[in-house]
Parts: sequence; C-alpha cells; structure tokens
Amino acid sequence: MSNNSFPHEFFGDLLAANAEYQKNFKYSELTGSAAKGLAIVTCMDSRINPLSVIGMKSGDVKILRNAGARVTEDVLRTLVLATYLLNVNRILVMPHTDCKMAENDEADFHKLIDEQYGVNTSSLEFRTTRDQRGALASDLNRIRSYPLLREGVAVAGGIYDVKTGAIEPFEG
Ligand SMILES: [Zn+2]
Repeated sequence: MSNNSFPHEFFGDLLAANAEYQKNFKYSELTGSAAKGLAIVTCMDSRINPLSVIGMKSGDVKILRNAGARVTEDVLRTLVLATYLLNVNRILVMPHTDCKMAENDEADFHKLIDEQYGVNTSSLEFRTTRDQRGALASDLNRIRSYPLLREGVAVAGGIYDVKTGAIEPFEG
C-alpha cells in the first residue's frame, strides 16, 4: 500500500501552499479555452514565468514547455488541438538566453549522466543545438508548414533574455 501513498515529506509544502491559494481562488468561472488566443512554446527553465513575462494570467494562454523550447511531435499534436478546439490563433515559440540545451551537444548530456549515474541514455534524443537561432527558424517553419495545423494561425518566435526579462522578436 505504501507505493500508493502520498509522500508528504516531499510534497507536503505544496499542499500547505495550495491551502492558502484556495482562500483567494478567483478562477472558478474560467473555461479551458485560451481567452487571449495565444499558445506559447517555451523551455522548462525555472527562470521563465511565461504568464508574467507577457502580462497575462490564468485562463489566457496555452503553455507548452520542454527542454529547449523545441517543436516536437508532441508539441505539434498539442497545437493542433489548441488551434482547432481551444481558441488558439497565435503561437509564440520562445527559447531563452543561457539555455543549457543550446550550449551542449547531445553527447555531452549522455556522457554527463553516464559518468554521474552510470545510466546509458543514448536511446534518447535530447534535441540540443549549438545553433539556437537556426533551430528556432526550423522549429517555426515546422509549425508553419505543418499540414494539420489550422489555417490562418499566426506564428512567431522570440528569444527571452533571462538577465533582463526582455523578449527579442526573432526575425528569421
Ligand atoms: Zn532552457
């Protein structure tokens, strides 16, 4: 049974914070549609608060995150649902400065994990890139040319600066 228990020693602080959150909860009227018609694809980097950096709040935006803000099959799958069914008509792909995914090669991460943990991760593709702007250009193109995406959806890129909070519009 212990396998099914909730490990409070690891997650108890979350429930305590959530109890506070519930006291002023004000989003009960929201639906699952994106009120501002936006989907943002960004990195998992913990320095990025996607809603805050673009002045939005709960209910406004679909947020898709992964290592490096890469456009994967799963991102495309999610964007198809978001654009047809959840009111999304604009997509911002937003990688960031100082991203480890743009400063290492695939082999570096495999080696690091193998050396530190003795685990062979070579069956995984981490999708690192030394050319962040080139990768962003091809990821944007991947969305724009995806045949199943809804017609007329606007697609843009921007690079988020973790030192200043600025988004640099990507012209590529
Ligand atoms: Zn990153």
